Amino acid sequence: MIRTRFAPSPTGYLHVGGLRTALYCYLFAKKNKGQFILRIEDTDQARFVEGAMENLINTLHWVGLEYDEGPNPDGTQKGNHGPYIQSQRNEIYTKYAQELIEKGHAYRCFCTKERLDEMRELQTQRKEAPMYDRKCLNLSQNEIRELIENGTPFVVRQKMPYKLIKFKDQIRGNVQFDGKIVDDQVLVKSDGFPTYHLANVVDDHTMEITHVIRGEEWLPSTPKHIALYEAFGWETPEFAHLPLLLNPDKTKLSKRQGDVAVEDYINKGYSKEAIINFVALLGWHPGGGENQEIYSLQELENIFSIEKVHKTGAVFNIEKLDWFNWQWRKKTYEEETENDPEKKLKALTEYTKNHLNESFTQDKEVLNKALLIVEEKILKDPKEINENIHFFFDLPNYDQELLTHEKMGVDLKQAQASLEACRAALENQEHWSEESIKEALLKKVEELGVKNGQLLWPLRAALTGVQFSPGAFEAAYVLGKKESLNRINSALAKL
Ligand code: GLU
Repeated sequence: MIRTRFAPSPTGYLHVGGLRTALYCYLFAKKNKGQFILRIEDTDQARFVEGAMENLINTLHWVGLEYDEGPNPDGTQKGNHGPYIQSQRNEIYTKYAQELIEKGHAYRCFCTKERLDEMRELQTQRKEAPMYDRKCLNLSQNEIRELIENGTPFVVRQKMPYKLIKFKDQIRGNVQFDGKIVDDQVLVKSDGFPTYHLANVVDDHTMEITHVIRGEEWLPSTPKHIALYEAFGWETPEFAHLPLLLNPDKTKLSKRQGDVAVEDYINKGYSKEAIINFVALLGWHPGGGENQEIYSLQELENIFSIEKVHKTGAVFNIEKLDWFNWQWRKKTYEEETENDPEKKLKALTEYTKNHLNESFTQDKEVLNKALLIVEEKILKDPKEINENIHFFFDLPNYDQELLTHEKMGVDLKQAQASLEACRAALENQEHWSEESIKEALLKKVEELGVKNGQLLWPLRAALTGVQFSPGAFEAAYVLGKKESLNRINSALAKL
């Protein structure tokens, strides 16, 4: 059975890069009828953040990534490979560290911080890579016993094998490291707590993880991990290292150039479908000439493959996220409202409720019509609602020039003639619908022998007072007969 895990350190929020890792682990497991495990890597107690784990779990839950095993926010857990929180597993690590020492794959190091600093200083001066010089590897059993009895603080270090460590990464292909130039990593700190490396390997083994899918920044740790698996005599899992997420300027994705916490995007109103869709395609695509870009989580569960993950970094482009958000809002809107104006209005009201200018809500009749008229714009960006409808409530102050349009052949004289003709046509209009308004006005166009734009441009401008707005029929419909005629009259007064 394929088992993957997402193993975040609870730093306070879920990074978008973390979400991508979690998503790929989840999808890979689902696609292969396997299991997805959540493990909290909180060995670095100095970085403890209150509520961070709960926050992380809630965010995963919100986007729909349910894990088969892992901790619950209420302190209970799912699955029988727990505990799933590393700070609750210390005894396990101590036992395994002891085993490594006994087998000669790890050793106690009593060097003081001063000595280590001095050693590194000298190595840097000699332009050598800073590495532990294995002084404590040569201590005799008696010396070690004595130091322990004297209460000398020590760490446990991994004894890196001096050999080539090779593995096949599922994304990057063959990778190899020379064990000789990999530092003897600290596995247990002087406070008795394990480091990431020991805890990670012990947990992946005891939790029966078959595929380790994680960010590229962990690639240099992999030879250390593989050496540990070999030292214990355990089977090594498969590894897949995901390429970095990049800012649009190709630097590593950073807070300085925008938000990196998934929560920030949730708070800004992005839908979970859009976030998942966007993150899934950050460095992955099914390929095979496939142009589709809109994928639901369920679809992704059926088609995800790790081999299709790109090798190069993926650019995090916020405009693309906006686009996905728009597409998903549109899709949901169409599916849920089934072309029923009432349902549409309910949805549009919901999308715009936190952005709408309070005063516009006074005139419900105009507002409701306006919302439906600008539905496309709302679906694209509900935050811009006021810019798209303000002129229905307050006619902006405009110059007579707005009523003219050189390219359409509308000068001041034509504007006046057109507006008078529109007034005549609309005054007689009994039934006020978009269709009937359109019919009446197009009849006028024919009667006068002018082009559509010659009649409709001045009308649209007179009705809205702005350069860009919905068309003349729609605007007249939203405003109603009385207000439309008022606005035509005030335009004529300008001429
Ligand atoms: N705790 C590590 C992190 O925060 C996990 C790395 C791994 O998946 O091995 O990303």
